[in-house]
Amino acid sequence: MEFRAIQKETVILNPLKDMERRLIPSEIRFDPLTGRSARICHFMKLQWDKPDFEKMVAGTEANCPFCPERVMKVTPCFPDEILPGGRMVASDGMVLFPNLAPYDSLGAVATMGGRHFIPMTEIEKDRIVRAFDLAMGFFRHVKEIGHPEAVYHLINWNYMPVSGSSIIHPHLQVFSTSSAPNLMREELQAARAYMDKNGSNYWDDLVAAETEKGQRLLGRIGRTTWLTAYAPMGVAGDVVAVVDGARSTLELTDEDLADIADGLRKTMAAYDKMGIYSFNMNFFSGTEGDDFSRFHLVFSPRTFFNQALGTPDIGALRNLFNETLCMAFPEEINQSLKASF
Ligand SMILES: [Zn+2]
Repeated sequence: MEFRAIQKETVILNPLKDMERRLIPSEIRFDPLTGRSARICHFMKLQWDKPDFEKMVAGTEANCPFCPERVMKVTPCFPDEILPGGRMVASDGMVLFPNLAPYDSLGAVATMGGRHFIPMTEIEKDRIVRAFDLAMGFFRHVKEIGHPEAVYHLINWNYMPVSGSSIIHPHLQVFSTSSAPNLMREELQAARAYMDKNGSNYWDDLVAAETEKGQRLLGRIGRTTWLTAYAPMGVAGDVVAVVDGARSTLELTDEDLADIADGLRKTMAAYDKMGIYSFNMNFFSGTEGDDFSRFHLVFSPRTFFNQALGTPDIGALRNLFNETLCMAFPEEINQSLKASF
């Protein structure tokens, strides 16, 4: 396993110090699996001011389609041949229904209960577990009916508007698809090639290598290993959790889901200390036959380059080149996250 990096250095003449030469370091890292590059640069203290949540949330409840008084009236239903009854309902106002803005033929949204706004650190472990259970019920059902899209079973979580969410009310994107999204497909292809070449599973090797090195290891909960990513996509790093022995989402046990919820809670608590209050979280899954795969998730904190102007943390470099920036070394980010693990 190769953790490859290229060190770079910029020379500028500093007008504030009589045009003295100033050296600014940066680094380009390559993901050990896919070769995807990630830049470590723009070094700054990872600390942001939280906004006035009361002001941000005020009024959004009035027309929220996911609040208990509206969710069963305004959300759509699946046809009987896909889901008899149209929606799946769990305790505390958790409802799963088709996504009104689908990006695949079998997409759902699951609300995470009746509470409209939950600050990141107040999202209970039990709430996450029950929302995951609801999604798992949907995945098992579409598999049982033999739906052609029941291949990869994925949960995406956009929490709060900075992450791309258009609704404050906590919810998950839940979809089954035969079309693996870009990065997941690249990872699956690369993991297959890795196994063909090395005769071992990339993710098992990664967990072993990171556990031995220790500098990016956050901890282990049950059979999940939590790491800060070597080549992160988020400006404040990414947290990756790999589940031993699970190739796909459907192979996750109740215990795994509880451990994942536990780790996500710790991750949120750690990023909250930096003033981060928004994130993306995606499941990455193979199919049950993919021995080269391991179920993993990526948690990526989201913030602003300029909060006052509303400048998002994704610019042309990321949007059009898919080249990422991280503003601290992942090993340093690991140190500040580790206290919560
Ligand atoms: Zn609501």
